[in-house]
Parts: sequence; structure tokens; C-alpha cells
Amino acid sequence: MIAIYPGSFDPITLGHLDIIERGCKLFDQVIVAVLRNPSKSPLFTVQKRIEQIRLSTQHLTNVEVDSFIGLTVEYAKLKKAQVLLRGLRVLSDFEGELQMAHTNKTLWHEIETVFLATSNEYSFLSSSVVKEVAKFGGSVAHLVPQQVALDLCQCYTETPLE
Ligand code: ADP
Repeated sequence: MIAIYPGSFDPITLGHLDIIERGCKLFDQVIVAVLRNPSKSPLFTVQKRIEQIRLSTQHLTNVEVDSFIGLTVEYAKLKKAQVLLRGLRVLSDFEGELQMAHTNKTLWHEIETVFLATSNEYSFLSSSVVKEVAKFGGSVAHLVPQQVALDLCQCYTETPLE
């Protein structure tokens, strides 16, 4: 069974990685799919985010990293995937995630959304929190894969705060 793990991953965090690793044990293949979202202005380009995810998942044999634009269910059909994998952190994630899962089901009744509860240590972790800490010079080495920590450091050194 093939699962798509769609998201912004701007950048990938250890919370995302935890979901990917656990997803790899449940499914034959996990496709981590970076959404090309024209309405968001991300810190990292899609290409850079793909590179970061590839480097962080090198130890996993059944992961593919890709990007897509448009409806997730159409992308899932294209990839012959039956499952959308999503992570749940806190109660506030639940409403939006449930709405999205129901909407996707109305678009394609074959699709199932599987939620994995975050591991305790990552329940507070988001890409936004990581960017906020890095922007003000805090260490994020315990929150993101090593390469991402370096990329963030470089990013904010090149564009220092005013
Ligand atoms: P999106 O813009 O689609 O929410 P994100 O990159 O923020 O993209 O998140 C992708 C998925 O990963 C979502 O299902 C989100 O709930 C989940 N996720 C994000 N951070 C964590 C975390 N720390 N632990 C578990 N799941 C997470």
C-alpha cells in the first residue's frame, strides 16, 4: 500500500521525520510530497525543501520525495496511492485536518486519510516555531535534521535582522 505524506515542509522538522519513519513501517511506500502552493511565501524553495527531505530520509529504503501542485487526491490517483498520511499534534490541528479528510473523501471516495499522533517530544514542534527560534539566533539543532539547521543558520546570517 502506498501512502502520500503531503505538506509544506518549510522546512522539514524532527516531528515530520518521526511521522515519515513510523509511516514507513506501516506502508510499503511513503511518498513525501511538497505542495507547490502559490498563495504561500515560503522561506525555502521547493527544490531546497526536496533536497532537505531527501538528505534526512537517506536511511529509509521505502521513501520517495516529490512535489505537486493542485488537488492532493488527483496527485494520489496519479501515484496510485490509497492513503494520505497526516500528523496530529494538538487539539487545534484536529478541526482543520478532519475538514480536509472529509473534503478529500468527497472528491475521491477511495482515498483514506490516516492520522498518526505525534510522539510526545515533538507535540510542540512546527516549522514556524523552528524559523522563529532560528531567526533570533537560537539553536535548533535538537528540532530539525542537521542539514536543515545549517541551512537555517546560513539563511538568517545572510539576511540579518534590522
Ligand atoms: P501543512 O501546510 O500541510 O500543514 P506542514 O509541513 O506544516 O504542512 O505539516 C505537514 C503535516 O505534518 C501535517 O499533517 C502536520 O499536522 C504534520 N506535522 C507537522 N509538525 C508535526 C509534528 N511536530 N509532529 C507530528 N506531525 C506534524
